[in-house]
Amino acid sequence: MSEPNGSAWGMCSAFGCPLLGTVGSESRWYCFCHVNKPSTFNDAITRELREKQLHIVDSTLDIRRVGGSFYGEDSTYRTIQQRLISADRRDLLMSQAEKQAGGVRAWLLRLERALIDATAGFGEQKPIALTTPTAPVIGPTHAANFHPYADGAEA
Ligand SMILES: [Zn+2]
Repeated sequence: MSEPNGSAWGMCSAFGCPLLGTVGSESRWYCFCHVNKPSTFNDAITRELREKQLHIVDSTLDIRRVGGSFYGEDSTYRTIQQRLISADRRDLLMSQAEKQAGGVRAWLLRLERALIDATAGFGEQKPIALTTPTAPVIGPTHAANFHPYADGAEA
């Protein structure tokens, strides 16, 4: 099976994306950042991931590679720690609560959420499972004199 755009097997179908393809969409696999985005934004998202968020990208890949447990993988854990600290993202280190709960998975989700947030500005992402769908705010269409934010001066 060959990918039309030359993505390595298992990787996101968006050209050049450093993340794994983990979400299926229209018979292709995309990462959680590219899925459901208009393809015109693919390159902008990839650039953001590669140029500005690579310390987080690499950390999520490391965590997935060890299979969600750092047992016997101390050096991997330290590598991630050092990477996040040198990128000035101590806020993304594994929290005490996550450690106590054995929550490598929770930590991974938090890192991946940070990537989703970092790329959220590129195109509208359609609601996917586990995200809160946000409906467009629709104002009144009929009451021409309805000014919800007026302070009464116009009344
Ligand atoms: Zn991707």
